[in-house]
Amino acid sequence: MIKKYMSAMGVEESLYQNGNFEVKTPIDGSVIGKVTLHEVSDVETQVSNAKKAFKEWRTVPAPKRGELIRLLGEVLREYKQELGALVSYEAGKIKEEGLGEVQEMIDICDFAVGLSRQLYGLTIASERPGHHMRETWHPLGVIGVISAFNFPVAVWSWNTALAIVCGNPVIWKPSEKTPLTALACQALFEKALAKFDGAPEYLSQILLGEVEVGNALVEHKDVALISATGSTRMGQAVGPKVASRFGKCLLELGGNNAMILTPSADLELALRGILFSAVGTAGQRCTTLRRLIVHESVKDEILPRVKAAYENVSIGHPLEGNLVGPLIDEDSFSNMQKSLDNAKQSGGKVTGGERVLESEYPEAYYVKPAIVEMDEQNDVVRNETFAPILYVMTYQDFDQALEMQNDVPQGLSSCIFTNDIREAEQFLSDRGSDCGIANVNIGTSGAEIGGAFGGEKETGGGRESGSDAWKNYMRRQTNTINYSTELPLAQGINFN
Ligand code: NAD
Repeated sequence: MIKKYMSAMGVEESLYQNGNFEVKTPIDGSVIGKVTLHEVSDVETQVSNAKKAFKEWRTVPAPKRGELIRLLGEVLREYKQELGALVSYEAGKIKEEGLGEVQEMIDICDFAVGLSRQLYGLTIASERPGHHMRETWHPLGVIGVISAFNFPVAVWSWNTALAIVCGNPVIWKPSEKTPLTALACQALFEKALAKFDGAPEYLSQILLGEVEVGNALVEHKDVALISATGSTRMGQAVGPKVASRFGKCLLELGGNNAMILTPSADLELALRGILFSAVGTAGQRCTTLRRLIVHESVKDEILPRVKAAYENVSIGHPLEGNLVGPLIDEDSFSNMQKSLDNAKQSGGKVTGGERVLESEYPEAYYVKPAIVEMDEQNDVVRNETFAPILYVMTYQDFDQALEMQNDVPQGLSSCIFTNDIREAEQFLSDRGSDCGIANVNIGTSGAEIGGAFGGEKETGGGRESGSDAWKNYMRRQTNTINYSTELPLAQGINFN
């Protein structure tokens, strides 16, 4: 099956069949590919190639650069089924979510094509007669992208579509757990290149490897921007290294996303919001709903319904019509069990969380999504466990709910379900949610590409995808032009 998809997308067999690094599918733990990882020394070669590409690509007019991304969008439309299925095999996502991830890639390509004609600067009034000021945006340089296993293809496209229209080459280090989808993306990018006239070599390169190789990219002084998506632990290692060489960093790290469920909420809507956000992608989205902060008067009404919905969720092979697929690997399963044990020890009441389908898939890790009723928001809850655990806590008054929402180290996504406009607006106000994403009557996960995506605090502060996130991939220049015959100084300084 893998071979069928890979060859349809134009990936050479030698790239994924003869290597010494095994790629396993989380569906049943079997080996689905053998790739060759790059060495740390390859980073130097790739950066040097990318620098050459940059010199050429930055001079290509932005709308023409957009044409390449338009072609990439077309190729992605053509191979949506194949790439989507490959995402399911490699990351364990259900069919709909694999396809949804590719749709996100298509959407960002469309967005970037429009953007290629809108890399606007400003004109600024000068205080001096016969002078003019403006602000321009120029290509930045080599962009290093590091990505996580759970969005194996979309994160690359969010970065690459924007980086390319902004005039930059990209070096991508995908997660070591998902190298096959990365090879497929590169092959699809090459299909788009083949239809495009005038692109330099090495505009997009992939760097397969683990932490050491990623680290070499991070430390390389000629990589202008490191856009890194993954755990907060990874960001804590990467951020200071990039800062110490005065590089730019865009960090998209862990989340601990909450829903405030108020007495006026439409509970049917909230139930659906909870289910998709908490158990979708088997709880392995950065925006997964991890905390339900429910008013004490509503808890007894909603919780039995959530538990019943959890019971009815089908768990199993992601390509066979189930709603919940596997966890990525055994480590992920043990981390989940550790967190559930810790929650129990601190008084939490756990429902679900056990391994299922073990006899059918002894080498894979399917779990029942867990619900944990907690008396208080303690450190177990404050920590992000990348698995389907939903902590449920109650509140008495709205200020307390807001405080609980914000009292975690992470600041990615948040939402409120309410029909009370005062509550909704307070939640979105300066004293409301402290997250990068704050939604009303929509769950925490499933963002559209048009908005800037990212979060505060330990989530890293970066923004990518829509809005003006493109500015991360360019450098700003302020210009003052004197078209007079005098040389007046600013601030009225007389230097005669
Ligand atoms: P991870 O941190 O283990 O790995 C992510 C990537 O970073 C991998 O490519 C890995 O090889 C690389 N890496 C790790 N340490 C590194 C280092 N010191 N130097 C250079 N590279 C390094 O994360 P994961 O398990 O693949 O993904 C799950 C995590 O990612 C969760 O915490 C999730 O919340 C987060 N995530 C965040 C976003 C977001 O947009 N905020 C999106 C997806 C996932």
